[in-house]
Amino acid sequence: MSYQAVWMDRDPSKLNKFEFYKMEKDGLDIIRDIVEKYSKEGFASIPQDDFNLFKWAGVYQQKPNTGHFMMRIRIPGGILTSKQARELAAIGRDYGRGLIDVTTRQAIQYHWLEIEQMPDIFNRLESVGMSAFEACGDCPRTIVGNPLAGIDPNELFDTTPWVDELERFFLGNRDFSNLPRKYKMSISSNIYNSGHAEIQCLAFTPASKVIDGEEVLGFHVMVGGGLSAKPHLARRLDMFVIPEEMLKVAIGVTTLFRDHGYREKRHYARLKYLVAEWGIEKFQEELIKLIGEMPSLGDDRIVGWNASYFDGAHPQNTPGLNYVGLNVPVGRTSSDELDQLADLADHYGDGTIRTTVSQNLILTGVSDDKVEALLEQPLLQRLNPNPNRFMSRTVSCTGNEFCNLAIVETKEFARRVALYLDEHIQLDEPVRIHFIGCPNSCGQKHIADIGLQGSLVKTPEGMVDAYDIAVGGTLGPGAKFNTALKGRVKSDNVNNVLAQIINFYKDTRQSGESFH
Ligand code: SF4
Repeated sequence: MSYQAVWMDRDPSKLNKFEFYKMEKDGLDIIRDIVEKYSKEGFASIPQDDFNLFKWAGVYQQKPNTGHFMMRIRIPGGILTSKQARELAAIGRDYGRGLIDVTTRQAIQYHWLEIEQMPDIFNRLESVGMSAFEACGDCPRTIVGNPLAGIDPNELFDTTPWVDELERFFLGNRDFSNLPRKYKMSISSNIYNSGHAEIQCLAFTPASKVIDGEEVLGFHVMVGGGLSAKPHLARRLDMFVIPEEMLKVAIGVTTLFRDHGYREKRHYARLKYLVAEWGIEKFQEELIKLIGEMPSLGDDRIVGWNASYFDGAHPQNTPGLNYVGLNVPVGRTSSDELDQLADLADHYGDGTIRTTVSQNLILTGVSDDKVEALLEQPLLQRLNPNPNRFMSRTVSCTGNEFCNLAIVETKEFARRVALYLDEHIQLDEPVRIHFIGCPNSCGQKHIADIGLQGSLVKTPEGMVDAYDIAVGGTLGPGAKFNTALKGRVKSDNVNNVLAQIINFYKDTRQSGESFH
């Protein structure tokens, strides 16, 4: 298969202005410029156009724009060793004021970094086999997946080698470093859809097929999902893929996006629009032209959706070993806590920490005889394996504390709303509540039971923070985005309105009904 880009034949007058930055300089070149030039000559030496490419280094300018940056670190599939966690904690302490966020793509995010610090950070990440590169930008981003891969009693097979294979192929690959826009993949064989397949550009999901009288395990393939202002659910291709062939499929889908994805209007440049416009049949035909015929669909093995929550201690696939899911309130932890977790992972577990797309953490490989002692550790009072119901299911994006695109503050607001609901409402089932500070939906508002999107509303006292509210989102079988409720709620009334919505549900629900 040729990886040679063909999109460059396009009429330049039809390209958006960002395309010209990328033609002038490959996004990956910014890494060299940061290391060799800007880190030495300082913040003032950075031309405005180059800030647009910083994302390829995993770096964004943060708010307030006073020379500080946010950096996202790739954790493919969410698997982290204690050694890597200690280095992440140390970098955060040395340069990021000790603040560490877990993101909805299983990444770690720093704030408050300065340009002079970048070379040291890049080197230190590399020394433990990690990278920030292409964690953002118009390129294949961190591959998300089943955080329990390899130890999961609910997976068909271990997907770790396949995540690694795709990561090795795409990371730093200049054939694919100039895509029309961001490009998100997930790989999971967990039967509860812990890779959130329907909202990815490309997702591999668990499947099986009888071939020559034998059951073969592999994947189904979904394409064209994504959130933001116009969310799309991914569509399934008529295709069964054995693990050994998934790289070929991923290259084919990414090539179609690179060469046929829209580059005219930037907000229209995601794969989801190409899939929607072509239709899934044409997309499949074009893909087959690139990769050759593939077996048709097998049996889909997804049976539900766990929303990637794993609270508490549970048996792994190896008898005698357990994983312990910990809640990270609104995804925010610290260098000190990450250091302590690394110690707990070594002392009680298998030296591994896992991150989830629900912004939480998991310790793994804890033998039966150590579970009780682990649960008594002081750190687990805050990173609680049995958290309060609402705090345990509250997700928040970065918001205007650091994000230049945000309209409102989200993280602290979300934490306070969850505290309020836990104090005032008794409910016997979880309700997932997601907060986002603008339509970009990094906090994945559309898939929440209750999604809140920050906005402003005019009052006699001037413009004040407010939220649009939507209810009933879910993924897995019956996937659908939530439905917007009429009106906009001022932030000081959000507690009250959410309490009324949840109490109304509680008082009127029927047997077997769940919130979504
Ligand atoms: Fe920023 Fe908007 Fe993303 Fe929140 S959803 S982190 S406000 S871009």
